[in-house]
Order: sequence, then C-alpha cells, then structure tokens
Amino acid sequence: MKNKISTWQVGNVKITRIIEGERAGPMFVVPDAVPENILKMPWLQPYFSDSEGNTIVSVHALILETPEKCIIVDTCLGNDKERHIPSWNMLQTKFLEDLELAGYKTDDIDTVLCTHLHTDHVGWNTVLVNDKWEPTFKKADYLFGREEWNYTEKQLGNPLYAEFINDSIIPIIESGLVRFVEIDEKICEEITLEPTLGHTPGHVSIMINSEGKKAAITGDFLHHPCQMEKLDWISSADWDPELAKETRRRKLSDYANEKTLVFGTHFASPSAGYVIKKDNHFIFEVHHPL
Ligand SMILES: [Zn+2]
Repeated sequence: MKNKISTWQVGNVKITRIIEGERAGPMFVVPDAVPENILKMPWLQPYFSDSEGNTIVSVHALILETPEKCIIVDTCLGNDKERHIPSWNMLQTKFLEDLELAGYKTDDIDTVLCTHLHTDHVGWNTVLVNDKWEPTFKKADYLFGREEWNYTEKQLGNPLYAEFINDSIIPIIESGLVRFVEIDEKICEEITLEPTLGHTPGHVSIMINSEGKKAAITGDFLHHPCQMEKLDWISSADWDPELAKETRRRKLSDYANEKTLVFGTHFASPSAGYVIKKDNHFIFEVHHPL
C-alpha cells in the first residue's frame, strides 16, 4: 500500500485522504473491467491498473478542513462489522489511528457527510462499544441525504442492506445526531452538495470552491478511471444504469471544461487528478499530493 495519509490544498480548504484499504484484483462492480479490456488502456498504468491488467481500487475517506468546518466525507467500511462480502467482513484496520496521525481526533470532526448510503461509505459512522454501536464522531452533525434515506429505509427487508443499515445508520438516527439534507445543500462557504443521481436515487458529489479553485469528490457515479474512456461500462451496483451513464458523461464533461481537481472516491493512489477530454471520451491525469 502507498502512503495511507496524503494532503492537498485547494484555496483555503485542506483535503486529507485516509486510506482504509487499497488492492489490485478483480473489480466485480464493473463487470467489463477484466484484464483483457483494461490492458487496452495503458494510460491506466501504473496507478489504476497493474501490468497484468488488474484494476487497483481504494476505499478511503477525505477530510475537508475549511476555515469554519472539519468534515469527513464517506466513512469507509469500519471495524467489527459482519458483512456478506468476505474481504469486508469483520475488518480490524487502524483507520482511526491513521486519522489521528493525520492530525484529527474523532471529536475534531464536526460534520460527517455520506455521498450515498452504501456499506463502504457509512462504516466508521459507528464503533462497537460494550456490544453496542455508538457514533464514532460524537460532536458531529451527520448529514444524510433525505432522498437517499427515503429509498434506503425501504431496503431493510433485504439482508444485504439490513446488515449495514442496522449497525451504521439506525444507531446514528437514534442518537439524534442526524440532519437530513437536500441533494443540492450548501454545507458552508466552500462546500456544496451536487446531485449525481443514478448509482443511487439520492446520490451526491461534493463541490469545493475556494479562492477561484475548484475541486470535486465524485462519490460512486463512477468507480474507476477506466469508466472515463468507457463511459457505458456500467456498475452492477447502479440503481438506474441509464441515468448513471448520463450522469457520468455530463459530470466528466463539466470537470474537464472547468479544470476541476477531481477526487475519485474509489480511485487508487494518488486518487486525485484532472479529467481530460479526448475525442468522444475522457482520460485522467493524476495530481500528486503535497
Ligand atoms: Zn463505494
């Protein structure tokens, strides 16, 4: 694994990435991303694919420190959680220690933002204390999308959803720390939510605007930079694959036109870069941390 902690500066917003896990191997979520196809995109190497055509993906959180706020975006998988995906089951990572090494104690975080309510974006919302799930960030407002929760709540009958709703979302709602937000909510001077629907019904990306500089955190409207060249490679986890495709094309085009520094929520190190338009598709040029 590369450096687990990396930092970028965008205007007066400091962006710090904490990696929970990063690995090369099959990426089941994008079924077309098999080695034979990936090797036809040599620009993905060495950051996003290895020389054998295995995709490299990451699960990480981003901390946004603005003059007013200290926000964690997407809280990864979490520890001690029973999950049906074996490589995500009962993890014991040092994520919170790494967060502290990066300079943030859990009580320093004043806002938790989830781009959407899937298992790999809500995990560290809670920690297990004396057999009970408690909020990890006790001094924070947890901002969940109203639309997103309306949909997710209805999936409780599905065990694949129930496993994370019950241990990572409901304890937060019961604790009273949740504030439900709209898909275009302004969080503070520099940070705004932006609807990027398709992967889920209430999916948002995060826009950062400061001192004339722009950055964005994608969430899962795409999972891997290969989907910049292959815009119609769908994710098997997309709620509405056609809408997801439309969102990918529209947002990648915006990012390319507006020279936005893009942080991919599952992009491997260095995880950030610029979207470049090529003919009828896009590629990604990485931007290294400070
Ligand atoms: Zn995800």
